[in-house]
Amino acid sequence: MSRRVLSGALLSASLVWAVAAMAADKPLYGAFGLDTAGFDNTVVPGNDFFRYANGTWLDHHAIPADKPAVSLRLEMTDRTEARLHAMMDAAAAKVSHQPSDLEGKVGAFYKAFMDEARIEKLGFTPVAPELAAINAANDRDAIAGLMGQGNVDFYPSLFNVNIDVDLKDPKRYALYIGQGGLGLPDRDYYIEKSFAETKAKYQAYVATLLKLAHWPYADAAAASVVGFETQIAEASWTKVQERDLNAMYQPMAVGDLEKFAPGFAWKTFFAAGDVGTVPTIIVGDKSAMPKLAAVYASTPVDTLKAWAAFQVLDNAAPYLSKPFADAAFEMHDKTLAGQAVQRVRWKRAITAVSGGDFGIDHFGTFGTMGFGVGELYTAKYFGPDAKAKIEALVHNVLAAYHARLEKLDWMGPATKAEAIKKLETYTIKVGYPDRPRDYSKLVVTDDDLVGDVRRAAAGDWAFYVGRFNGPVDRSDWSMTPQTNDAYNGSLRDIVFPAGILQAPMFDANADPAINYGAIGGVIGHELTHGFDDEGRKIDASGALRDWWTKEDAEKFEARAKALGAQYSSFEPLPGVHVNGNLTMGENIADLGGLTLALDAYHASLGGKPAPVIDGLTGDQRVFLGWAQAWRGKVTDSYVKKQVVSDPHSPRQFRVNGVVHNIDAWYAAFGVKPDEKLYVAPDKRVHIW
Ligand SMILES: [Zn+2]
Repeated sequence: MSRRVLSGALLSASLVWAVAAMAADKPLYGAFGLDTAGFDNTVVPGNDFFRYANGTWLDHHAIPADKPAVSLRLEMTDRTEARLHAMMDAAAAKVSHQPSDLEGKVGAFYKAFMDEARIEKLGFTPVAPELAAINAANDRDAIAGLMGQGNVDFYPSLFNVNIDVDLKDPKRYALYIGQGGLGLPDRDYYIEKSFAETKAKYQAYVATLLKLAHWPYADAAAASVVGFETQIAEASWTKVQERDLNAMYQPMAVGDLEKFAPGFAWKTFFAAGDVGTVPTIIVGDKSAMPKLAAVYASTPVDTLKAWAAFQVLDNAAPYLSKPFADAAFEMHDKTLAGQAVQRVRWKRAITAVSGGDFGIDHFGTFGTMGFGVGELYTAKYFGPDAKAKIEALVHNVLAAYHARLEKLDWMGPATKAEAIKKLETYTIKVGYPDRPRDYSKLVVTDDDLVGDVRRAAAGDWAFYVGRFNGPVDRSDWSMTPQTNDAYNGSLRDIVFPAGILQAPMFDANADPAINYGAIGGVIGHELTHGFDDEGRKIDASGALRDWWTKEDAEKFEARAKALGAQYSSFEPLPGVHVNGNLTMGENIADLGGLTLALDAYHASLGGKPAPVIDGLTGDQRVFLGWAQAWRGKVTDSYVKKQVVSDPHSPRQFRVNGVVHNIDAWYAAFGVKPDEKLYVAPDKRVHIW
């Protein structure tokens, strides 16, 4: 396929319009940042606020065949993607075979993915070294050695190893280990009857990949692989269990793992992992670990080999020839997410180089040059003026949280003092990291895609291992600048990448109330994560320590429980319920976020009344700004996957589930007791 793939012609109509609007210094949506034409005025806000704010837009926008969703958030991603496309096309056009500069390396990586003729000719031979190593592994020890290379190569592992801040000694890093090994998104897919059909399709998929790679007796091997993964699933902790940070923190001498979880070749595993000398390791999913080791010890070596081969092919499939990439698309994107059609090649190429959220097509952040792409992207598309505006907004929301904590009626003075101390230690990161990631040692060539991915993964792992024994770097980022998302991290930082700082989340030309409702709500959301069901267990120094009085902890939990019960009653599809415990942290953050955004908006008025615009009051516009930010819809398969594997609630509940707990929303829209979203004042949940 030619690389001259016409960036202009593929811009969507809304994107062309967006570019024109930006040039005119006008807001992107509507006259003041709110697309009121997208409202459904036949719906009473108190009956379905999400639908009221978004209904007409939803009726006029179908889910595109190459996505599992349609939304304004995805329009943001599309805009970033179009810019990256132009950038990478230009870089690839002038690239040498093995460039030494950052732009050249990004261009070569992209070019290697776009070289379809070569990729088709190679078939699965790029992963022949991995398959040969698996074939040569004649006992469980040898397979454990391959699993140990899971962070630097396509090999799977029963045990995931990663490096992060030590939660009990936050000035240092620690090595964490926990359960792994599943090819489907969650243990539920293997165990719950409702997923039986998907599980059968998965087994067929395992057989397909093994056959394509000429694995002997592929059908029987596939059955044994899925049987093995089902045993892993049965031993694994649920995602709700994994939210208990104390239960997930069990320090152990590496030498004691053999006694704790016998049957697995731990020494071989760690020796292969290239992590240096590590005396202590933090074990998560504690009761699952010995069970997984026992499953491994009792599984025939041939099954382990077939499993490893399948997982290598599955992990590498997006970079292999069409039969592999298409099969992986059918399984991961069509069956599991409801995306009807595979994205065109250049879009997948961008995901391969950049990582992150550019559609799904079964890519992760493994083996990308994400931070390098972000450096080039923000140099061109994120100016210091945007950075200053956002920083001011963040500080206003921070001040609102401070004021709320001071006057919180259910929290005692001792806990309150600690909470405020913690809030004051937060650092705010906007746009891009101060210090760029060093890619100078990474070798990228324009004709070795799988090698590029492998070397990029190894380079990433070397970065983490290299600083393992040094002090914690609080300037670090764990999301790339082009990502359309934000996070609250283990460094007591809240991070807003350039990718999320665009309309409708943030529009420099919009009415401030809309920005407060949208990005202000997200800023509040990220801040309160430091105090949700997980975050509240971390203290001001970043350490996992209980700083709550017993009484305050009980009051918090009672409120959280009431919120969880509300969400568990939500039913996005008939018979499919939200899991109030899995989504607890995100729901608390949404509720706190919008509450804080409203406070911060009020404070920003400096004592003056809010203007009325287009008949809408200031408070109404803040709530509508939030509702517009979540405008969109997803496929049914995506919803089913989301409720078991994603800690975020489906989008309509991120709006309706939040506003009906906020008193000011009732006043703003005159919501009456007989309307569907109405919750009696004493049943509304107030946390922050
Ligand atoms: Zn969140």
